[in-house]
Amino acid sequence: MLLKTLLLIVCWSFLLFVSGCVVYDKEGNVDQQATREMNESLRAGMQAAAQATAAGVQAYQQSRMGPPPPCARCGGTGFVFCTYCQGAGGFACAACGGRGFSYGFACASCGGRGGFPCAACGGAGRLPCLH
Ligand SMILES: [Zn+2]
Ligand SMILES: [Zn+2]
Ligand SMILES: [Zn+2]
Repeated sequence: MLLKTLLLIVCWSFLLFVSGCVVYDKEGNVDQQATREMNESLRAGMQAAAQATAAGVQAYQQSRMGPPPPCARCGGTGFVFCTYCQGAGGFACAACGGRGFSYGFACASCGGRGGFPCAACGGAGRLPCLH
């Protein structure tokens, strides 16, 4: 029977991590195995309690702060307007005014396309936000 063997259990709670618990048998001798088992279960209990406390503190902090705010630059979309082309994706050809032809001929400068794709964003008009 467990209760008969473990007559006395002494715990110094304030020194638990240093000295731990000592379990005595009915002769008053230290029961080495019971002491070891007791300390292991206590340590596991303390660790679980510490982990639960840490998780609780984290959850409390998160609930107070709310979800992380979206990126100030892109608003959480992950993309920002290309500053080189102002989001247009390209530039109108200055020679033909973007029309692609002049005096009835295809513009030699832009090849008739009327403009040039933005080299910075590849014509997408936006760039990935590097946050
Ligand atoms: Zn961003
Ligand atoms: Zn661009
Ligand atoms: Zn042109």
